[in-house]
Amino acid sequence: MKIHNFSAGPSILSQYTIEETAKALIDFAGTGLSLMEVSHRSKEFVAVMDEAVALVKELLEVPETHEVIFLGGGASTQFLHAPYNLMKSKVAYLNTGAWANKAMKEAHYFGEVIEVASSKDSVYNHIPEYTVPSDVDYFHYTSNNTIYGTQIKEDPEVDVPLVCDMSSDIFSRPIDFSKYDMVYAGAQKNLAPAGVAIVIVRTEALGKVDREVPTMVDYRTHIKAGSMFNTPPVVPVFAALQTLKWYKAQGGIAGLQKLNAAKADLLYGEIDRNTMFKCPVPNPKDRSEMNVCFVMSEEHADKEKAFFEFASSKGMSGFKGHRSVGGFRASIYNAMPIESVQALVDCMKEFEANN
Ligand SMILES: *Cc1c(COP(=O)(O)O)cnc(C)c1O
Repeated sequence: MKIHNFSAGPSILSQYTIEETAKALIDFAGTGLSLMEVSHRSKEFVAVMDEAVALVKELLEVPETHEVIFLGGGASTQFLHAPYNLMKSKVAYLNTGAWANKAMKEAHYFGEVIEVASSKDSVYNHIPEYTVPSDVDYFHYTSNNTIYGTQIKEDPEVDVPLVCDMSSDIFSRPIDFSKYDMVYAGAQKNLAPAGVAIVIVRTEALGKVDREVPTMVDYRTHIKAGSMFNTPPVVPVFAALQTLKWYKAQGGIAGLQKLNAAKADLLYGEIDRNTMFKCPVPNPKDRSEMNVCFVMSEEHADKEKAFFEFASSKGMSGFKGHRSVGGFRASIYNAMPIESVQALVDCMKEFEANN
């Protein structure tokens, strides 16, 4: 039976990524050595890193003003490193969920953090209205709230630089980098296995803080060394390159965006139509195209376990909601084929007919 992987992260990768990485784990680039045991300074691996950086720039249309680096430590490390490098004394954060809170907590080490709005009182089921003060060093937001299934699908219109955690929707839509001082993303949602994060940063925004920035924290260290200041996570970077090649073959960001919209429409359409389910995010504008949350409707609240077991028996995997939200969450990242979304929709239809 085919298993459909709806896991929120680590999550589905393209079959191409998995197969190419598996081959390289045995014999990397004809060296006769495993990718796991070669020097990161070998010409074969340096070529991998260079191509990965170049493809991120090409696919996302990163302008000359910005640099792309690959760093260990995941997105959570960037919660700290972003303010360390970019915050002088005062910043603004939008509180749209658990990850936004964690990001905000780290900025507190460096000065004043203004929470411009929060949707906490409604379990983060919408993107709140907000205004950003004009005297802050930057405005930070989380573009896609992996846990609650909400998303900000367009670059915000504000008159201060933007900093954004795009861990769970990078490469799903075009980004206007002229508005951003920095974007970061952990790889394990939309790119590669866990262990690496992408940072895209405006070079001119660096070196402006008064504090001393330790070597490993300073983005300039990694820009200068081409993400090779220390040993990079070699296997995740290689896998990321395979995904980037696959993205290009899917028609790049425009192609992925179109497919993502079709997948999301299909699944939200069924949730709204099917009387047994409902979406906890009421406003369609705020609904994530990456993480689709749904719960049993009131009159069928007792059937949650039964649906879980039914859908699991049909090969659905990783679709339980986050422990803080309950219900279900189908993560339909870039690598998820529309056929798998259709398989889940078929389960929902069949479950309705059986009940
Ligand atoms: C998963 C996730 C993180 C945390 O990523 P790590 O790489 O585990 O640190 C941060 N932000 C968002 C939006 C996420 O989805």
